[in-house]
Amino acid sequence: MGQADEQNFYYASTPRPELHAPLAGEQVFDVCVLGGGISGLSAALHLAERGMRVALLEAKHLGYGGSGRSGGQSIFGYACEMSTLEKAVGAGDARRMWDVAVEGMQLQRELIARHSIDCDYKAGHMILGLKRRHDQALREELDSLATRYDYHSLRLIGRDELRTLIASQRYSSALYDSNGGHLHPYRYTLGLGRAAAGAGVRIFENSWVTRLDIAQHASADNFAHTVQGTLRARHLLVAGGALLGRLIPKLANKLMDIGTYIAATQPLGEERARSLITNDAAAADMNWILDYFRRSADHRLLFGGRVSYSGIDPFDSARVLRSRIAKVFPQLTEARIEYAWGGFLDITLNRAPHFGRLGPNAWFVQGLSGHGMVISGIAGKLVSEVIGGTAERFDMFARIPHLDFPGGAHLRRPALVLAMLWFRILDLL
Ligand SMILES: Cc1cc2nc3c(=O)[nH]c(=O)nc-3n(C[C@H](O)[C@H](O)[C@H](O)COP(=O)(O)OP(=O)(O)OC[C@H]3O[C@@H](n4cnc5c(N)ncnc54)[C@H](O)[C@@H]3O)c2cc1C
Repeated sequence: MGQADEQNFYYASTPRPELHAPLAGEQVFDVCVLGGGISGLSAALHLAERGMRVALLEAKHLGYGGSGRSGGQSIFGYACEMSTLEKAVGAGDARRMWDVAVEGMQLQRELIARHSIDCDYKAGHMILGLKRRHDQALREELDSLATRYDYHSLRLIGRDELRTLIASQRYSSALYDSNGGHLHPYRYTLGLGRAAAGAGVRIFENSWVTRLDIAQHASADNFAHTVQGTLRARHLLVAGGALLGRLIPKLANKLMDIGTYIAATQPLGEERARSLITNDAAAADMNWILDYFRRSADHRLLFGGRVSYSGIDPFDSARVLRSRIAKVFPQLTEARIEYAWGGFLDITLNRAPHFGRLGPNAWFVQGLSGHGMVISGIAGKLVSEVIGGTAERFDMFARIPHLDFPGGAHLRRPALVLAMLWFRILDLL
């Protein structure tokens, strides 16, 4: 898994800020946030804005997880279909959840504007169909989201127009969302970090939480222990994403961590980059094992795809992604891959977000299932609401039922590898 920092284009294209010092000794705050990704930072920022004394513990550095590695695509909705949420919580709450996701898109733009975050935000996102059944599914999605969810920023694009937008013969239709977009995820994350610190949040980096003592009574404090210190706080948020590992086994059982990879080509020059995606939207195809791509501000192609369900196979991601790029953009065969990196997705069995409580004053958010660029920000805001005393929206998400991955800690991965073979076969049909 290409976790090495120098392989990550986002890290390489961002002046690295000085690290915040690790936690040392025992310190007391109102709120302890575990995790320096967008979820944790958004929660910390919103809580500090409510006047609470907040500390955030990050195992490595801000943006070490998915938030600093992501495809950067801001996509409507959730990783699961809305029909999954309707079945899980009923049509009324599913509708309210949709509205939260749309609010998340607005919140992302507001945070960028309010805190002057220089993260190359661009409007426009396209979901790409590759075959007739995809074209039909996109039409149905457009109708359903307009009529049942009052979502009106979508437009269906047919094959001929799509050829003028994406210089590839591969796609048959697209659903364009003017409300979606893309951004430099690491700069966005660091920008939230700066905003949080500016609002008074104490950030501790290189502070890996090795043990949590979660209070069982509302009047008791929670404790987070690192190698060098202890943080004591009345309220606790766990937002460790895929990297939380087995710190809390009952949370780990609900997740499969899946490796996924992105490559950045050499700078292609403005004209050539523009010719590939003329409207500068982000794009993701409809396969189960999907390709997703966009232009970077310095005129590279950023191309993600290929997942590792075995989670353990280091492989030559640059070579594999190059061959996938060649399938979409054969005209780029000569382009050099300058960066190739990977990260882990925290996938739930039903792909719905997994939020909930660990104790009377302890909460978690996880399971954004590869769809967290938007949802992580609003998830943090919902946590600030629940800690601030308004539980309604957070609790609505906490009611989504989640099953453990079958097969226990040892057998679920082989089982998933088999399931994914099946999904690959589906992509070919
Ligand atoms: C390669 C890749 C591509 C992606 N592309 C997209 C995309 O295009 N669009 C989209 O919507 N989503 C995408 N995602 C998903 C998205 O990035 C995540 O859903 C989102 O960033 C999750 O944010 P988070 O804050 O919840 O978790 P993270 O960003 O993973 O942050 C969790 C943090 O917690 C820290 N942590 C974990 N355990 C501990 C501990 N014990 N003590 C202290 N700190 C700890 C980790 O170091 C990490 O920094 C992608 C993810 C990856 C990996």
